[in-house]
Amino acid sequence: MKWSKFLIQTLREDPGDAEIDSHRLMVRAGFVKKASGGLYTYLPLGMRVLNKVQRIVREEMDRAGAQEIVMPILQPSSLWKTSGRWETMGPGMFRLEDRGGHGYALSPTAEEMVTSLLGGIINSYRQLPVTVYQIQWKFRDEIRPRFGLMRSKEFLMKDAYSFDVSMDAADASYEAMFEAYKRVFERCGLKAYPVEADTGDIGGKFSHEFHVLADSGEDGIAFCEGCGYAANLEKAARKASLRNDEPCGEMEMVPTPGAKTIDEVSRFMGVSASAFIKSLIYNVDGKSVMVCVPGDRDVNEVKLRHFLGAKKVELADPAAILVASGANAGSVGPVKPADASLRIICDQDLKGAKGCIVGANKDDHHIKNVDLDRDCAIAAEDYADIVIAREGDICATCGKVLSVRRGIEVGHVFKLGVKYTSQFKAVYKNDNLEERVMVMGCYGIGVSRTLQAVIEQSHDANGIIWPASVAPFQVCICLLDPDNPEAVSVAEAIEKKLESRGVDAIVDDRSDRPGVKFKDADLIGFPVRVVVGTKGLSSGGVEIKRRRDDKSATVVVSPDKAVDAIMERLA
Ligand code: ATP
Ligand code: MG
Repeated sequence: MKWSKFLIQTLREDPGDAEIDSHRLMVRAGFVKKASGGLYTYLPLGMRVLNKVQRIVREEMDRAGAQEIVMPILQPSSLWKTSGRWETMGPGMFRLEDRGGHGYALSPTAEEMVTSLLGGIINSYRQLPVTVYQIQWKFRDEIRPRFGLMRSKEFLMKDAYSFDVSMDAADASYEAMFEAYKRVFERCGLKAYPVEADTGDIGGKFSHEFHVLADSGEDGIAFCEGCGYAANLEKAARKASLRNDEPCGEMEMVPTPGAKTIDEVSRFMGVSASAFIKSLIYNVDGKSVMVCVPGDRDVNEVKLRHFLGAKKVELADPAAILVASGANAGSVGPVKPADASLRIICDQDLKGAKGCIVGANKDDHHIKNVDLDRDCAIAAEDYADIVIAREGDICATCGKVLSVRRGIEVGHVFKLGVKYTSQFKAVYKNDNLEERVMVMGCYGIGVSRTLQAVIEQSHDANGIIWPASVAPFQVCICLLDPDNPEAVSVAEAIEKKLESRGVDAIVDDRSDRPGVKFKDADLIGFPVRVVVGTKGLSSGGVEIKRRRDDKSATVVVSPDKAVDAIMERLA
C-alpha cells in the first residue's frame, strides 16, 4: 500500500474532548473521526484494526464451536415487553416507531431476540448444546458518552448466547467461552484479567468480567496477591476485621447544629470519620430498614440486596426516613429509632463496636459513647459484609490483604440460567418427550472498546505501539527519496516479499521530510519501521527498528536480508 494513495490524516493538535491517552492518540493518528457526541467514523486505518480484532474474535468463537449469525439491530418492542425490559431498560435504550406506529428498539443487547429465535428452532435435546454469536452494532443512550470508543452511543459488540439442557451442561458452555475469551485478548496483545462479577440471582462463580488494567479504567477491581482472587468491587468479599474496643462510659447527647454529613459532624466534633457510624434508611422492596456502616465506608447496595434476598434496595425518601427514625437524614442512628420494630443491619466490622458516635434520631443531635451491643437492638445475624471493599481489606478466601486497581471492562461472560428462556417459553423435549426449559448463557466482547484498550495499554509519549496481530499495517517502509528509482525499487521489493509472507506493509512515498515521516510512523504506531534512503543504500543498506525499541536498537542490513530481519522483529 502506498501512503500517498491511502486516506490518512494525522493531526498536530490533541482533540479538545479527549480525557485519556488512547482517545487522544486514536483521533490524532487518524484512526477515527468524531461524527457527533459518542459517535465515530472509522477511517481506513481504524477499519483495518477493527477488522483484525473481529477476525481474531471470529476465529476463536468458531474454534470454541460457536456459530455465527446476524440478527436485526431494529428490534420490535413486543420482544422487550415479553421480558419486561421495555420498562426496566429505561432511557438507556433508543426507541423509535415505524410509519404504522409500531414500536422498536435499537438493540442495546440481544437476549430477547436470540431466545425467541432459538425457541422457535430447537425442539429436541438432540439439537443441544448450541452456541450462536454475532458481531453487530449496538446502541446505548449512555448518560455520559466519553473516552472515545470506550463509552460511545454506537459500538461494535460480539455477543454470543449458549443454550443447554441443564445447569450443569451450561457450565461446560460457559467454560468454553471463558477459555475462548482468554485467547481472544491474548491474541490481541492485551493483558486482560478475568474477575468475578455479581451474578444477580444465579449465584456461584458464573459471571466474570475481563478487565484491562489502566488508571483511566471506570471500574474498581480487588486483587489478592495471596490466592489470586480477583473481583469487581461490586462483588469483592472481605473478611471482618476484628476489633478490640475499650469499654466506654454512658451515652451522651451532643448538639451538632447544622452538621449533616459525616464530614461535617466529624469536623464539628474534631473526631475522625472512623469513630462514627453512618446510618441510612433504605427502602427494601417497600419496607424501611436501617443500614449502619463505619463512618469512613460506603454501603455496597449489591451486597446488601443479596444479604436481604431483596429484589430492589434504594435509599428511602425523606418522609419514610422521618417515620422510621424520628429524624431527618443526617441525624439518624441505631439507638432507639422511632419505629421500635425497625430492622437494623450492620456491617460486619461493627461487631463489638464501643465508644462510637451515632445520629441521635433527633434533628441536629448526635450521641457519643455508644456501645452497639449494650445500647442498640441489633440481631447477631444482622451483621454482614455490606460495604464496598477497599485497599487494605482482608481477603475472604485466604486472609491476605486486598489491593484495588482500576480496570476497563472489555468482555463479560455470564450464566443466565432460565431467566429469558422461561419468559419466552424456549423449551426442548427430553428423551421422555417431556418439555424442559433451556438453560442459557450470554457472552459479550466490546470489539470497538477492545481496539481502544489496546492503545490505552500500549503507547508512549510519541504515539501508539501496536502489537503485530492487530496493527493497521505491520510494517512501515519509510521511503526517504521517492525520486530515486533505486530506493523505490528496493522499497517495493521489500513490500512484495513481505506480502508473500502474509505481512502487510505501507510504503511512505510522500515527499515530506524524514522527520515528518518518522513522527507520523511513531504516532500511528506501526510495529516495525524500515528506512530506505539513498544515503543508507550507498553506505550499507536499510535501517530496521521496532516501534517499541529505542534508537540504539536500530540495525542496518543489506536489502536482501531485510525481510528476514523484519520477520524476526515481528515474531
Ligand atoms: P459497562 O459496565 O462498561 O457500562 P456493561 O456491563 O453495560 O458495560 P455489557 O452489557 O456487559 O456492558 O456489554 C458487553 C461489552 O460491551 C462490555 O464488556 C463492554 O466491553 C462493551 N460495552 C458496553 N457498553 C459500551 C459502550 N457504551 N461503548 C463501548 N463498549 C461498550
Ligand atoms: Mg458487563
